[in-house]
Amino acid sequence: MSSQQDLKPVSPALPPTDGSRGLSGSEVQQRLAQYGSKAARSGQARHLSAFYSIRRNRMNYRDQFRIKPGNSVKLDKMDAAFKDKHEDQASALVETEKYTHRLRELQYLLYAEDKRSLLIILQAMDAGGKDGTINHVLGSMNPQGAKVYGFKVPSAEEAAHDFLWRIHLAAPHRGQVAIFNRSHYEDVLVSRVHSLVPKKVWSKRYDLINDFEKSLVDNGTHILKFYLHISKDEQLRRFKQRIDDPTRHWKISESDYTEREYWDDYTKAFEDALSSCSTEHAPWFVIPGDHKWFRNLAVSQIVVETLESLKMEFPQPTVDIKEIKARYHEAEEDAGAKNGKVKNIKKGKK
Ligand code: AMP
Ligand code: MG
Repeated sequence: MSSQQDLKPVSPALPPTDGSRGLSGSEVQQRLAQYGSKAARSGQARHLSAFYSIRRNRMNYRDQFRIKPGNSVKLDKMDAAFKDKHEDQASALVETEKYTHRLRELQYLLYAEDKRSLLIILQAMDAGGKDGTINHVLGSMNPQGAKVYGFKVPSAEEAAHDFLWRIHLAAPHRGQVAIFNRSHYEDVLVSRVHSLVPKKVWSKRYDLINDFEKSLVDNGTHILKFYLHISKDEQLRRFKQRIDDPTRHWKISESDYTEREYWDDYTKAFEDALSSCSTEHAPWFVIPGDHKWFRNLAVSQIVVETLESLKMEFPQPTVDIKEIKARYHEAEEDAGAKNGKVKNIKKGKK
């Protein structure tokens, strides 16, 4: 039987899972501030200890915001303005930065290991924060191993194929992270809301999507799907910000306002997609998105925790490191001798 899921936490702070004493809110803040400055001064080792300290004392958003397979999602029961224990952006910032820093390290490891890939899918209502999430959270990754794909209205060539064709072409290869700004889910969202295809076509797509995602997972891709959940009021506030800020005028489109009229239809379509396609192998997370800074914290934590759980390892070197060290020393001595000669010539010595 399906059950509804409510994102509001039952208690303000979960106990640490490692058996250590829980810290009070102010102690956590003190520690974060302390670790923040220490990490800045002393580099990697301290940074990591701070990171693990944060992990012990944080809420587990990976459990909290995940849609359990079979659950029926009701978005109006989920608090888009949820911000956990944090008062404001400043109180979450140190923690978020630790996660984004760690994300970069883990992505480097994924790239070096070259065994599997990560696919991150972002969906939201207009102005829901997809671009901002990519910029703030996922922007910390090295572009060499990460690609962002934005899916727009299909081109003539794309539309002449099955709906998953263009998606499959963009799926990440081993060692790579791919981020989808919109995705194949548009084919059960906009296509459904605007009857771009008949019901008998879109209604079969949920199973097709689940099968497709399973085949990617079986081939070594880890999939995380984020629905950035904003309230209708927050959308209007963001539209206003766009009007008030000339640097954001380019983002405004007529369709923002026409699509807003379909808010309830989109909500229903999202609820069905989230309920039908959150699987063990490719989970959906509903991220409270009214506070951009909280959204950034939650997404970065979930991506980091997922990558940590893979227990990735650097590959064994393909060369004999001892032998390479010996060759390095020879080269160093050679270079030293040559430099010495040059210096001596400059000084007029033989
Ligand atoms: P934006 O993300 O603001 O650049 O807008 C992209 C537009 O492309 C949105 O209006 C989407 O609904 C639309 N779009 C994306 N994928 C599809 C699709 N498969 N079929 C129809 N429209 C789509
Ligand atoms: Mg838009």
